Amino acid sequence: MGKVWFVGAGPGDPDLITIKGRALVEQAGAVLYAGSLVAKAALDWAKPDAVTADSKGMTLEEIADWLALQANRCETVVRLQTGDPSLFGALIEMVRPLDQLGIEVGVVPGVSSAFASAAAGVESLTLPEVTQTVILTRFSGRTPMPQGEDLESLAKHHCSLCIFLSITLFDQVEAALLKAGWDEWSPIMVVEKASWPGEERVFKAPLNQMAALIETNGIKAQAMIVASPTLGARDWDEITKSKLYDPEFTHRFRKAAR
Ligand code: SAH
Repeated sequence: MGKVWFVGAGPGDPDLITIKGRALVEQAGAVLYAGSLVAKAALDWAKPDAVTADSKGMTLEEIADWLALQANRCETVVRLQTGDPSLFGALIEMVRPLDQLGIEVGVVPGVSSAFASAAAGVESLTLPEVTQTVILTRFSGRTPMPQGEDLESLAKHHCSLCIFLSITLFDQVEAALLKAGWDEWSPIMVVEKASWPGEERVFKAPLNQMAALIETNGIKAQAMIVASPTLGARDWDEITKSKLYDPEFTHRFRKAAR
């Protein structure tokens, strides 16, 4: 019986899969990929005789059945996931039926679209004395938010927020941030298709102008909303430099100058 690997394919750019993930795709007898996002990586690197299938249109049950079936006939089965498999990827829902069948599973992490979005905008999600915390979340859509995790409560921390799966709900995201005390001029970033070669679009605007920008540019899917007090720091007059680079600060690799 084979092993099923859940591999993070990264945010879209086929070059952003890890070396380990790519090696598993190359040796897999069967690869199940999630829609067009990671199709290229799957088709480019899979063995010519590997069985490949698109999970778009499959139910979770059908996905688990497919993976189990393939694990019965080949040693390595890969399920490619967008970004990192631990975020909004129904990982556990797929792993549990395999556990029940006694099929071994492994997970290879991937570059999340949260990080590809920060990279696209040349932004840092943490900045000394500004914020040292990042919340990865979503707005409640069909999946309700557990108690205490509504966006308004989370936004009260005034830290960096990477909001997944919510671009069509931007009006409600804006309302939640305002209710949590964010200024209407707070900088917001929306990244569509982060890292996709030739298709990535980065939008930066104050909170009160972003909804119009989303509308005019027809952004409806595959977009990350980043709200953070660090946005735009590249152009600030002054920033508090990270203590790591402070000559008066001693750390593991350097003795303080003074
Ligand atoms: N596991 C994935 C997230 C899957 S949920 C990860 O770690 O990135 C799908 C949501 O992720 C989308 O609604 C969108 O908000 C975000 N997303 C996925 N790929 C993206 C990309 N290339 N650019 C911007 N957002 C992306």
